[in-house]
Amino acid sequence: MRYVVIGSSAAGIAALETLRSLGGPKVKISLVTRDPGEPYSRCLLPDLIAGYKTENSLRIRPSGVYQKLGVEAFSGLAAVELKPQEKRVVLEDGRELAYDYLLVATGASPVGLGVPNEEAQGVFTLRNLDDAQKILALTPGISRAIVAGGGLVGLKAAYALKKAGVPRVTVLVTSPRLLSRQLDNEAASLVEAELSQLGIEFIYNCQVTSFAADHYGNLESVVLKDGRELPADLAIVAKGVRPNTELVEKAGGRVERGIAVDRHLKTSLEDVYAAGDCIQVTDRLTGEKVNSALWTLAFEQGRYAAANMLGILRPYPLPLTRLNSVRFGTLGVISVGRLEGPEVLSRYDPLNLSYRRLVFEGNRLVGFILAGKVDGAGIYTALVKSGRPAWALRYKLLEGQVGGLALMGGRDSAYNSHLNEKQAVLEI
Ligand SMILES: Cc1cc2nc3c(=O)[nH]c(=O)nc-3n(C[C@H](O)[C@H](O)[C@H](O)COP(=O)(O)OP(=O)(O)OC[C@H]3O[C@@H](n4cnc5c(N)ncnc54)[C@H](O)[C@@H]3O)c2cc1C
Repeated sequence: MRYVVIGSSAAGIAALETLRSLGGPKVKISLVTRDPGEPYSRCLLPDLIAGYKTENSLRIRPSGVYQKLGVEAFSGLAAVELKPQEKRVVLEDGRELAYDYLLVATGASPVGLGVPNEEAQGVFTLRNLDDAQKILALTPGISRAIVAGGGLVGLKAAYALKKAGVPRVTVLVTSPRLLSRQLDNEAASLVEAELSQLGIEFIYNCQVTSFAADHYGNLESVVLKDGRELPADLAIVAKGVRPNTELVEKAGGRVERGIAVDRHLKTSLEDVYAAGDCIQVTDRLTGEKVNSALWTLAFEQGRYAAANMLGILRPYPLPLTRLNSVRFGTLGVISVGRLEGPEVLSRYDPLNLSYRRLVFEGNRLVGFILAGKVDGAGIYTALVKSGRPAWALRYKLLEGQVGGLALMGGRDSAYNSHLNEKQAVLEI
């Protein structure tokens, strides 16, 4: 059997490792990836900009991983077409790869603002190593950077720029507060306070209408709808991502909010599977169809898809798609599941600068936010995931007294319960 994987990030690497570990030495595995080098963590790109990490320490696997896995790698090359009838993938250099089973793990790409001069030199998005390297190269000596977007990637980028020594960093936020999809007002205020203390500035309720550039095409300023023009040497647009669905869509596969997959992560195309940020999933708590957009989910899906491609049928359990964890300096913030529900309890401890919000539905904890002191977050997450009765524990949870509570249903329990010890695959 010949397996082809497109994409070498979280989903792709997990699939390659699973194909080898469960498929044994004989299965033929090929990889096609646009990424020219070794697989790396996108989540750590801000740390590269901040100077906390080097390129080498972004790697998610030791050097030479493809060789070690016995994978024929076509790196630095895009797949440009799928031919599902012929079971072939066309590469940009014209070569074609035959497959018995194909995994599309093409991830997602940043969404632009769609405003004039967005291509000016000095305006970036932050998704690939190449983006981070370019930002890093421009950072020394600049006086002002602007980040358009008050979501997780935008704030991580702003924090990194400040840590890299950029004197003035301004974040432009469309909504009235930061992280409006992940946090409530109280937690967002704590994040704002922490970042403001570092000297990061915020402008809320604003919209970028264009970038202004000099006649060499270099960024000069960012223009807002209210007419303000903010001088800038560098700008990062962080307005979210859209799934890379084109290959499947052009081949006639079903695409909705992402590539549509069944419970075995199979697309509507014969013997073609998909995993990671390119797919649509159904959220376990809300039942909503959403884009999968988390590293851990992509990794888990890569493993499930690979097992299914090998015929070891493993239905992928509905995932918890709202699960964000970030740290800015001393402030940790974790937000999981629903932000609203029939019963909401919250507690702010000003002495410890610590905030907890718990959302219950009936007996179940269906969401929480921890900001400041985030100890025991695994317990809260396990309660949300397992759906176990938790109302009786509400005061302990609210006070953060979770030390004595047993951890229920870890991250990989659903996957591991299907696989015996021998089949367990490498962890990130
Ligand atoms: C700055 C930043 C911070 C983040 N922080 C977090 C975090 O804290 N926690 C978290 O859970 N998630 C975080 N994420 C999101 C996380 O990185 C993604 O969820 C994860 O990378 C998705 O993995 P993936 O394998 O689905 O796709 P991607 O990582 O998007 O990779 C796609 C792969 O497909 C390849 N590819 C695409 N199209 C083609 C083609 N046509 N031909 C060949 N190859 C192709 C690419 O080269 C790449 O190898 C962050 C992302 C960014 C950018």
